[in-house]
Amino acid sequence: MDTPITISGGGIIGNYISLRLKKNNINSIIVEKSEDSELPPGGIRTLTLNQQSLSMLQNVGIDPETALISKITVSDGEGTGRIQFSAEDIEEKNLSYVVMFNDLANMLMKAQKENTIFSNEVQSIQNFDNEIDSEVILKDGISIRTKIIAGCDGRNSNVAKIAALPGSFNEYKQTALTFVVSVQENTNENAYQVFSEKGIFALMPMPNNNNKHTVVWSINDSEIKDTDINDYVDNYLSYFESKLNLNMSVESKILNFKLSNHHLDKYINGSLVLIGDAAHSIHPLAGQGINLGFADADIFCEEVINAYNKGFSINEKALLKRYEIRRKGMNLIMLKSMDFFVNFFNNENLYLRILRNWGLTTFNKSRFIKAFFIKHASGLNKI
Ligand SMILES: Cc1cc2nc3c(=O)[nH]c(=O)nc-3n(C[C@H](O)[C@H](O)[C@H](O)COP(=O)(O)OP(=O)(O)OC[C@H]3O[C@@H](n4cnc5c(N)ncnc54)[C@H](O)[C@@H]3O)c2cc1C
Repeated sequence: MDTPITISGGGIIGNYISLRLKKNNINSIIVEKSEDSELPPGGIRTLTLNQQSLSMLQNVGIDPETALISKITVSDGEGTGRIQFSAEDIEEKNLSYVVMFNDLANMLMKAQKENTIFSNEVQSIQNFDNEIDSEVILKDGISIRTKIIAGCDGRNSNVAKIAALPGSFNEYKQTALTFVVSVQENTNENAYQVFSEKGIFALMPMPNNNNKHTVVWSINDSEIKDTDINDYVDNYLSYFESKLNLNMSVESKILNFKLSNHHLDKYINGSLVLIGDAAHSIHPLAGQGINLGFADADIFCEEVINAYNKGFSINEKALLKRYEIRRKGMNLIMLKSMDFFVNFFNNENLYLRILRNWGLTTFNKSRFIKAFFIKHASGLNKI
């Protein structure tokens, strides 16, 4: 087989890249480890897309059902500090859009099915550090001659292992619980986030469901070490009900994920390039993981399409280097900000708590700083 671009990983980011390249007459082959089968529709997991990510999807003909978020209220559970981000701060209609993970993944997977080799993975790659084309050998022996190998295979990326790139890896020693709740009150396109000693609790509306909401609740492992997570939710959900003045009841099973982050020092090695969670992963507190992946995908596609349209070779080293330069700094800013928030709000020191409450209240009064912050999170800042 022969293709300009081989993509390891047919998740949301891998499929998006393949689809966008196809719309620009550039072929690719996706190698996906899992079977050729759709995820169950709906499900529990949601993703919060920013305006930029949603527009990128719509531009390639993917238009998922969304729940709108026009306000986000962030509060400190142990104090009175609170900050409200609103779409009006940036003169937009909405701040972000909640989609069902399974539904978006299925739409993208279906769109790229004919380019995908399922139940397979990359075993080895030859010549990736030379100027000549590389040869990708799959587990079942299939060989693909290719110019670029894009690792979109998530946080345990196979391509990152083959590229042997150094990086930093950090366990938060926290677990994220995610589940669906019904909320009696009308939340009017509001999303909520509470930082507290019972963890970081985020509540977001769900598409097609007026009173159903999704919860992502990050808890220190030391808090739940000997406790069943169902009992933990039973015991402490009421704490957040009273903080938010909302009545909630659990409507689904409770999924849990161990939380960690990582960031590779380099995103490229010869013709290997890492994109999305393969290159970096962050704490889910701001729901930015997939948006960083879309921002990477956008720049990668832009560089490849530009080179292709100008008749340059797409495995030109400078092309991949430009992608790395344009994305690495932006991703690091987001990663470091998330770490700052996790540490700052995970600290019970009285002085820090006072500073936190003062900080939130002061921040809340500054329309300019808020607008800057929201624009960064909404993907409108791009280099
Ligand atoms: C609890 C939780 C909540 C989250 N909430 C949000 C949120 O609200 N908003 C948000 O933006 N982000 C959120 N995230 C992060 C988000 O889910 C990820 O950033 C996103 O899924 C990354 O997409 P990706 O396509 O890069 O990788 P993945 O989704 O990991 O996809 C990788 C694909 O590669 C395949 N694969 C893996 N290994 C191989 C291999 N060796 N060979 C071939 N294929 C392989 C996998 O099967 C998969 O299809 C959350 C994460 C967690 C844990």
